[in-house]
Amino acid sequence: METLSAIKPLINWLPNANSPLLIAGPCSAETEEQVLETAKQLAEFTTAQIFRAGVWKPRTRPNSFEGMGEEALKWIVKAGKQTGMLTMVEIANAHHAEKALEAGIDILWIGARTTVNPFYVQEIADALIGTNIPVMVKNPVNPDLQLWLGAFERLHKVGINKLVAIHRGFSSSTETVYRNNPDWAIPIELMRIAPKLPIICDPSHIGGKRDLLHQISQKALDLGMNGLMIETHPNPDQALSDAQQQITPCRLKELMDGLVLRKKASNDSEFNNKLVEMRAEIDAIDRMIMETIARRMKVIEEIGKYKKLNSITILQLERWTQILQNTRNYADIIGLDREFIISVYNQIHLESIKLQTEVMNE
Ligand code: PEP
Ligand code: MN
Repeated sequence: METLSAIKPLINWLPNANSPLLIAGPCSAETEEQVLETAKQLAEFTTAQIFRAGVWKPRTRPNSFEGMGEEALKWIVKAGKQTGMLTMVEIANAHHAEKALEAGIDILWIGARTTVNPFYVQEIADALIGTNIPVMVKNPVNPDLQLWLGAFERLHKVGINKLVAIHRGFSSSTETVYRNNPDWAIPIELMRIAPKLPIICDPSHIGGKRDLLHQISQKALDLGMNGLMIETHPNPDQALSDAQQQITPCRLKELMDGLVLRKKASNDSEFNNKLVEMRAEIDAIDRMIMETIARRMKVIEEIGKYKKLNSITILQLERWTQILQNTRNYADIIGLDREFIISVYNQIHLESIKLQTEVMNE
């Protein structure tokens, strides 16, 4: 994307960055002791290079713990000095930005509830003019790639070129196993249109519970994301926020050790040739899928004309219910995931209705 052209690759401003880069620390800074102890254990057991902690906590309901505020910044800076890790806090407005800069925090992040609001993002961008401090931007709570991109553009425009995206999942109206639906297609699209922008996955806020961390982290790495941000606490069950998703630094080490790191590409020509062959097969199949859909749409057009001629409504609920039923059964027979196929058919059906509406209006 042209407007984000000057983004600096992570390796330029964090030359020792591990791959994957590990960011860890508690959801919230609770006490000086807890902050220092978490950082100490992280430095001892893990490869974490950036220490995170929230001091102003955006909470859904007002009676939850809302963070220790400004005074906790010095605990975090102290933890960084004691361990050599870089420090990182969430800021949600210009005042937070000023306080974090004054305290000497190394990296800032903008939370999901702030990325949704262009006024706040602009206010933060203005407060950071002339600093070129690294800023990581979490995706907005709603699945809107444009808002996420807009936040990068606002920061980039004021001269911040050390930018990183954090994928933390999206609110969803349907219940899923996740706290925030990962909606992987959105970060993948971001990676496609802003290939220079590093992207980190936050499995803690996507999963919302410990037993999902491994699966989400592995998926993020398999998609080629540059790192992970994982909430850690010396005593997770006692944490004042997000207790169910935090893990001990020791457990974080085990989690990282259990992840498979795969290469982005190979030098093996036999592998590469085979891959080219299989990709050609996929391309041919994709063309067949499209040609088949085009044929279906032709018939739909005919049906539209025929219904128009006989003054029949476009949507025939019984027919649609029957198609869904047939599709479900056939998906089972040929071993395709039912929900996946139904979602594809929902799209095809919407397009078919659109086409028939056009025919009716001709
Ligand atoms: C956090 O990282 O502690 C946090 C509040 O995250 P999010 O903005 O993703 O909800
Ligand atoms: Mn949290």
